[in-house]
Amino acid sequence: TEPESETEALMPKEQDNSLRPRRMDEMVGQQDVIERLKIAIDAAQGRGEPLGHILFDGPPGLGKTTFATVIPAEMGTSVEMANGAGLRAPKDLLPYLTNLSEGAVLFIDEIHRIPKSVEEYLYTAMEDFRIDIILGEGVSARTLNYELRPFTLIGATTRAGMLSAPLRDRFQIREHLGWYNQAELCEIVQRNSKKLKIAIDDGSAGVIAGRSRSTPRLANNRLLWVRDYAQSKANGKVDATVTAAALDMIGIDTLGLDKQDRGYLDTLMRVFLGGPAGLEAIAHTMNVSSDTLEDEVEPFLLRTEMIVRTRRGRMATHKAFEHMKVKKPDASA
Ligand code: ATP
Repeated sequence: TEPESETEALMPKEQDNSLRPRRMDEMVGQQDVIERLKIAIDAAQGRGEPLGHILFDGPPGLGKTTFATVIPAEMGTSVEMANGAGLRAPKDLLPYLTNLSEGAVLFIDEIHRIPKSVEEYLYTAMEDFRIDIILGEGVSARTLNYELRPFTLIGATTRAGMLSAPLRDRFQIREHLGWYNQAELCEIVQRNSKKLKIAIDDGSAGVIAGRSRSTPRLANNRLLWVRDYAQSKANGKVDATVTAAALDMIGIDTLGLDKQDRGYLDTLMRVFLGGPAGLEAIAHTMNVSSDTLEDEVEPFLLRTEMIVRTRRGRMATHKAFEHMKVKKPDASA
């Protein structure tokens, strides 16, 4: 998935993997999802059948890929990882399907990006563990049937609404991953600080958790930055003051807003006097694309009630003016 913010770039992929839970018991939060999955895994194993296909949806960084790694680990099977954006034609999908061993897992991240022509092959693969390939055209066309070994498809999407109904309905288990609360994020920070062999007190973990937008991936990113900062500026000693200074330095404020979020609010409040202002107008003024604003900036601002979307455009809320310490323009002026 696209990085959620500029700080994302601070974390190389290997580190993301080293902090990733390996087993379900190491996962924090999402307890209701975990409980249901454990039952499904148990039942499938009892029957000696592959686990039903699973669809995870939810915003980036909440654990979709993590689930796709721990589920096969619980089942003692292997997983093949694919990305919907890379499956441009049926031939891209075939090697994944034919390589799967019996009962193994195929994980397709960003499954909403699969084109229709590829999606249709998934239908029979998911339903009957079979693919029908049409060779040639017109009267000389022939169909080849491939039997597949029974497998489990795990799909992940940030946009469940973009999935076609026929595809969505072929998943027996559908789970939505929600935001993590402060206590859960603190626990993730504490556990990962042990993995990274740095001592972190509750106060520091709280500061990191509070600025992580309810998202484990961001908590990890912030933790890694705090570690670097403490090492070079504070002899490796991490406390709440050092942690806050480290995050201030990369523009992450007390609510977890980054520079781009504050740039948006600043534009809306100062240039458009709090709105209503159209998305395009804000984007032009900030010199960024409206897609970026709509996909990466606005969701968090809406969620934290910093802005509202009205029929006439975006408006900054009272909370936004308070947080940004900007004086609200006089309505009668
Ligand atoms: P994307 O859609 O962007 O790929 P994702 O939903 O697949 O995101 P993950 O890659 O699974 O998110 O999670 C990001 C990181 O957050 C993981 O590397 C892991 O360290 C941490 N993480 C996610 N969920 C949990 C959890 N429940 N407990 C502990 N750590 C977690």
